[in-house]
This record gives sequence, C-alpha cells and structure tokens, in this order.
Amino acid sequence: MTTPSFDLDQDHLDLREWVHTFAADVIRPAASEWDEKEEFPWPVLEEAAKIGLYSLDFFATQSFDETGLGIPVAMEELFWGDAGIGLSIVGTALAAAGLRANGTDEQVGEWAPQMFGSPGDLKLGAFCSSEPDAGSDVGAMRTRAVYDGATDEWVLNGTKTWATNGGLADIHVVTAVVDPSLRTRGQASFVVPPGTRGLSQGQKFSKHGIRASHTAEVVLDQCRVPGRCLLGGKEKLDARLAKARDGARSGGSNSSMATFERTRPAVGAQAIGIARAAYEVALDYAKTREQFGKAIIENQAIAFALADMKVSIDASRLLVWRAAWMASQGKRFENAEGSMSKLFAGETAVKVTTQAMQILGGNGFTREYPVERMNRDAKIYTIFEGTSEIQRLVIARAISGAPIR
Ligand SMILES: Cc1cc2nc3c(=O)[nH]c(=O)nc-3n(C[C@H](O)[C@H](O)[C@H](O)COP(=O)(O)OP(=O)(O)OC[C@H]3O[C@@H](n4cnc5c(N)ncnc54)[C@H](O)[C@@H]3O)c2cc1C
Repeated sequence: MTTPSFDLDQDHLDLREWVHTFAADVIRPAASEWDEKEEFPWPVLEEAAKIGLYSLDFFATQSFDETGLGIPVAMEELFWGDAGIGLSIVGTALAAAGLRANGTDEQVGEWAPQMFGSPGDLKLGAFCSSEPDAGSDVGAMRTRAVYDGATDEWVLNGTKTWATNGGLADIHVVTAVVDPSLRTRGQASFVVPPGTRGLSQGQKFSKHGIRASHTAEVVLDQCRVPGRCLLGGKEKLDARLAKARDGARSGGSNSSMATFERTRPAVGAQAIGIARAAYEVALDYAKTREQFGKAIIENQAIAFALADMKVSIDASRLLVWRAAWMASQGKRFENAEGSMSKLFAGETAVKVTTQAMQILGGNGFTREYPVERMNRDAKIYTIFEGTSEIQRLVIARAISGAPIR
C-alpha cells in the first residue's frame, strides 16, 4: 500500500507545473471570451490536444497513478485557469469514467480512444444519465433499452438532459432501464457509437456559469446499437438481473452511481481550483486597494475573511486528496468520504468566490474582474454530480446505517 504524504513527489510537482503553465498561458487569457460567447472552445481544446493534455494517454496515466493524486492535482490547476474551459477539456473524462466503471477491458480498449481522437481530429465523449424527471432520483429514469434478439441489437428510446458535451460528442455513454420492475437495479449502460441513427441533440442550455462548456439534451428515438455496446456484456447483465429478481441484494451500486463514486474527488478538486483562483485575486486586491489611507487588508474584517477562505480551501484539498488516495488503494468509502470531499469543496467554492466579490467591492461585481465569473462558475459545484443535499444524504446514511430519506 502506498503511504499518504503531504509532500508531493517530483512527478506530481512536474505535473502541477506543466498543467499550471498551460492554464496560465492558454486558458486564463481565453476565459472571458468563451464565457461571453457561450460556445464550445474548440481552439483551446486543440491546443490542449497538441501538448497531450487532452488525450486518453494523459487521463489514463493519471487515473492509474498509485497515490491517486495525479487527477486532483491536474484538475485543480486546470480549473484555476477557468472552469468553463476546464470542463470542456475534462467532460470526455466523465464519459470515459462511465465506460471504465461498467465496461470490460475490450470495451474500454475499443471505445475510449474514439472519445478523445487526436490533434487535428478531436473527438468528444458524453455521459448521459440525467433525465427531465430523473435528476437526483436516478430510480425514476425512463429511457428504455429493449433487446432485439433477431438482430442482436439494443433499441434505446428516451430523453436525456443536461449532458455535458451531449449531441456534440462522438461517443455517448447512456444509462437506460432494461427491467423497470427492478428500479435502479434494472438499469444498464450502453455506448452509442459515432454517427448512430436515432441519437440527436435536443435543446442546448444557456447557463449561469461554466458557459464555455456545452450542456444539452440528448434525444434517443429508436436508436439501435449492436449487442456489444452493452457495457459489461449480456451474460453479466442477465446474471445481475436474475439475482435482483430473486430478491438478493446486489451489494453494489448501479451504473450511474458507480461512475459518480469514482469521479467525486476529481469534481471536488475542480471546485478547489475555482476557489483558489478567486482567493488569489482577492488577496492581491486587498493588499493594493487603499481606503481610509491604508490597504484594505489592514482591516481585520478583510484579513480574517481571507484567512477563513484559505483555511476552507486547504481543508477541502485535504478531504479531496484523502478520498482520491482511498480510491487508489481500493479502500471502501465507509463514511462516504468521496461525497464528503465533493460536498465541502463545492460549498467552499461558492463561499470563497462570494467573499472574493465582496473584497473587490464594486469591481467584484463587474466583468472587468474575473471573480464574478468564478462565482457564477462555482455554483454548479453544489448541483451537479449529486447536489449538496444528496451528498449529505449519502454521508448521513453511511455514518448512521439508518434509512434516512
Ligand atoms: C451544467 C450541468 C452539467 C451537467 N452535466 C451532466 C452530465 O454530463 N451527465 C449527466 O447525466 N447529468 C449532468 N447534469 C445533471 C446534474 O447531475 C443534475 O442536475 C443533478 O443531479 C440534480 O438533478 P436535478 O437538476 O434534477 O435536481 P432535482 O433532483 O430535481 O433536485 C432539486 C432540488 O431538490 C433537492 N432534493 C432532491 N431530492 C432530495 C432529497 N431526497 N433530499 C433532500 N433534497 C433533495 C436537490 O438537492 C435540489 O436542491 C448536469 C447538470 C448541469 C446543470
């Protein structure tokens, strides 16, 4: 077992420096433009692909880092650059996580490279679980997958919503109901290959924050995919369904939840990147802005606020690194440590960016300064990948064993 250390080793220091340089030189200068345009930042993604940052190789290498810290360290720097562009770069990784959580090695080998493409021929992946009537309540999912034995195909019908990269993506990983009587245990994940008829983009959403990231509905209308697109394979699914029908507890989680458990610490690290960026702007501003003949930081009210911001950011990082390390060691999240990290980091991002706006006064409220954008971007971290209330529910159930609703 790898022992945790608060000292990053040289590899992680190099990684942090490399991603930070890209974030500072390429992402930051482009952040405001793509936020205003609310369009997918293809040119920035192309630059990220050219240096190998947007690539399967990068995400795979960091995901298999034996300390678990590679992904959180990289995420924090990327999102320090900008969250909307950051999410455009890592959105595919959520789909890849869905593939890895539920697919066989062969399926990962076939589909993961097609999600990223290569410089000059970029591809995207999208993970589609949420539906108009099934957000927090994954059991209310209605998208159906029906097996057609005559052609060995699955037929998908339904509407997915709020999918990052939805409709733009080349590969969609879609969760669907195969047996409605089994609720979450009757669900499975499918890959929808590029160009499959019957999959189309519905409404593209105009958003409060992370506006460079593309968020849209995905409509599945008699969408037929080959049998091999069922993640994990039919034999495994049939065995799992038989067990569930016998009333046995599955002992595990369903396909969407398996994906989210893996990705929560990484999402927490993104929130930390936003919070740290806003904190740094506020600290610099407080040292240089003078009122009543002195720098505003010389007032305890401002200095203590900055102290609290720094404490919350560092505490978030400790929770995120602990959860990422536990996951890398195959330790169970007995007390929902993944949810703890995402909950605390997400709420910290909202509080810290709000406080940063306050410290910048009128300037904080304008688009001349980046903290209002960071504040808009931060809010999604209490909503997606499980709202703050759902994280508390998961933690409360884990620590109590009680059927809290
Ligand atoms: C920008 C963006 C990107 C997204 N990307 C993706 C993606 O790539 N793929 C994907 O599948 N989904 C994605 N989502 C969906 C996201 O995960 C959901 O929005 C989220 O899970 C919440 O679901 P909901 O919006 O339906 O809210 P609801 O579930 O309707 O919740 C509404 C409110 O009720 C509260 N609530 C609900 N149930 C309970 C309860 N039992 N106890 C206490 N409070 C409760 C919630 O916390 C929330 O405050 C994205 C969403 C956004 C906005």
